[in-house]
Amino acid sequence: MDHFLYRDGALFAEDVPVAEIAAAVGTPFYCYSTATLERHFRLFDEALEGMEHLVCYAMKAASNQAILKTLAALGAGMDVVSGGEYARAIAAGVPGERIVFSGVGKTREEIHAALSGGIRQFNVESEPEMAVINEVALELGVVAPITVRVNPDVDAKTHAKIATGKSENKFGIPISRAREVYAHAASLPGLKVIGIDVHIGSQLTQLEPFRLAYEKVAQLTEELRADGHEITRLDLGGGLGIPYTRSNDAPPLPTEYGALVKETLGHLGCEIEIEPGRLIAGNAGIMVSKVIYVKEGEDREFMIVDGAMNDLIRPAMYEAHHDIVPVVEAEAGIEKRRYDIVGPVCESGDTFAKERMMEPIAAGDLIAFRSAGAYGAVMASEYNSRPLIPEVLVNGDQFAVIRRRPTLDEMINRDTIPEWL
Ligand SMILES: *Cc1c(COP(=O)(O)O)cnc(C)c1O
Repeated sequence: MDHFLYRDGALFAEDVPVAEIAAAVGTPFYCYSTATLERHFRLFDEALEGMEHLVCYAMKAASNQAILKTLAALGAGMDVVSGGEYARAIAAGVPGERIVFSGVGKTREEIHAALSGGIRQFNVESEPEMAVINEVALELGVVAPITVRVNPDVDAKTHAKIATGKSENKFGIPISRAREVYAHAASLPGLKVIGIDVHIGSQLTQLEPFRLAYEKVAQLTEELRADGHEITRLDLGGGLGIPYTRSNDAPPLPTEYGALVKETLGHLGCEIEIEPGRLIAGNAGIMVSKVIYVKEGEDREFMIVDGAMNDLIRPAMYEAHHDIVPVVEAEAGIEKRRYDIVGPVCESGDTFAKERMMEPIAAGDLIAFRSAGAYGAVMASEYNSRPLIPEVLVNGDQFAVIRRRPTLDEMINRDTIPEWL
């Protein structure tokens, strides 16, 4: 569920007409709903009620400071995957004890920054990384709390580019080697082993892969405890999928996911962490774009819009589907037309949808890409020298620009000319 609905034929973001925002900030832009962000966070928080837990928002999905502050105010922790994200979490006022550091290639500098600023735990992804965390901790005279990310070798049944839990993926250590790696970790004086971490992929639309992974984690918990490790915390990663279309089978709900967590892991008495990103931000955001031209093709029309793959790369990168709707609702019963919806970038990959049936659209009309809140703005680039598009946050009947569009001069002046030119 989200808060982007039609009222009297006009698309609203909560209580604000989307067309009003477009008039104020220009197109294209991202628009997020506070109510949807809050609702999704609470769904997860409530789904784990009865177990000690922390929901750590995976901020790589959408990391604007205003989004982080909205979630942090509800008590969210943050899952970060870089020094930049760690700095963003701190800047948003999230205390170090609520920040989890994941990621397959943490550098010495990033580890140093997190250990100095405070960190809930590192999710360690390899033995060489473990050695570096140990070294930095000893240099700083602290003990680094760690889990080890295990790769349970389960098929997440998702797009290959976002599956992470098979043995051929680069993430974590094979679960079959976990006991050996934990024994090594326990021998390093700069580390304190506190738990186990697992994250098998993104946009999972079934519970079964989670069940398989969590059953393996439960068994490993018992084995590691028998080996003498104190396993008190289980980080279960993120990955629960969202409905990208209104018609397809809905992915499992956070309540069903929470019930599965209790069933597979509840008996262990561990504190549970989860790291949802997409499910919190995905349907909390839209990208609004204006139609520049409608061009006749042989057997279809091309709808050329002012948003492009550099603004929203998911269709080009993952063959992702986004529902695309007009900001002014079409009359009921009007005959649909067949459109290829494309951006202006000089790549055939700059295609948002092929042969999409839509109500007739004319140049100048506004359209909205739904479910664009996660992995949208954060993956944007300035390819084709298109400035990063603004982000807007709506809250009830108010809206605010939370990242403005840079001017062309600002964009150009980030380059510097060497003295020989
Ligand atoms: C990307 C990622 C997440 C979030 O995944 P979603 O599918 O957005 O929920 C959580 N944990 C880790 C380690 C990740 O890399």
